[in-house]
Amino acid sequence: RAKHEGRNTYRLYQADIDRKARDQLSMETALRNAVETGEGLYMAYQPLVRRDNKQLISAEALARWDHPEHGPILPGKFITLAESSGLILPLGKRVIDLVLEDMARWRGAGKKLVPIAINLSAAQFWQPDFVATIKQKLHDNDIPASLITFELTESILLNRQADGTALLQQLRELGCGIALDDFGTGYSSLSYLHNIPAHSLKIDRSFIEALDHEENNSRTIVAAISSLARELGLKVVAEGVETEQQWHLLGNYAIDFIQGYLIAKPQPQGQFAEHLSAR
Ligand code: C2E
Ligand code: MG
Ligand code: MG
Ligand code: MG
Repeated sequence: RAKHEGRNTYRLYQADIDRKARDQLSMETALRNAVETGEGLYMAYQPLVRRDNKQLISAEALARWDHPEHGPILPGKFITLAESSGLILPLGKRVIDLVLEDMARWRGAGKKLVPIAINLSAAQFWQPDFVATIKQKLHDNDIPASLITFELTESILLNRQADGTALLQQLRELGCGIALDDFGTGYSSLSYLHNIPAHSLKIDRSFIEALDHEENNSRTIVAAISSLARELGLKVVAEGVETEQQWHLLGNYAIDFIQGYLIAKPQPQGQFAEHLSAR
């Protein structure tokens, strides 16, 4: 009897694993189709504002995907899937094209453009022709490089600091901005931070969230990151600001720029365009 049950349990697990594998594969097929046709893919834009007066400074472009049957899938899932299945390069290209398309549309509607930040995955950043491709696309779309910032995490540079720094330097010379994303979570190495030619540093949302709970060290950490960044000549952005209390505390720590649901959630291009002033 025990043997019988054991076998049933095994069958149950196996069925579970088979189903998961099938789901994964069909999700990958759907994503491949979306990347090829562009169907269901679009960008959402989240304002980045000055902390003191909440004035719009720039925005971050965040990829969105509506699955034909399952509806919206979060980037946490489909970007990860794209990275593990080799789809990230064509998806990354789509993302850049979508952003440039949206910017051209806003300009056509008489809006004054603000800089837009694009998130990069490691594979994209390390493509041999990445900088040349960006240069070409900016030229083709008549968008000044100064209106594009690239966000990347320090982990992308891990083990290849010298090469990575040189690549960032090329993007910088092109005129693009460089932001270090999710700062404080990865393999932050303070010893080489001063070598990274970044313009700004974004303090990870986990530290901002923890500000509301006085019992931990998050306030000390945020204050320390802020003063370190300042010393290194980097602008500091706090990510994921959700409460008035966080907003207030960040003022004490000399944080000049913020992003978060307290100000605005990521929005489709049409809605975001309403924040842009007329040229
Ligand atoms: P990220 O670059 O750190 O983006 C910030 C994430 O935090 C976004 O999640 C944003 O919607 C969310 N967020 C912003 N403010 C708040 C807040 O106040 N509270 C909370 N709870 N969340 C907030 P999203 O859009 O789901 O993106 C997740 C991650 O996926 C991004 O993290 C980024 O690493 C990646 N990603 C998104 N779009 C792209 C893309 O086009 N290319 C690449 N390579 N990665 C992308
Ligand atoms: Mg980002
Ligand atoms: Mg981030
Ligand atoms: Mg992130």
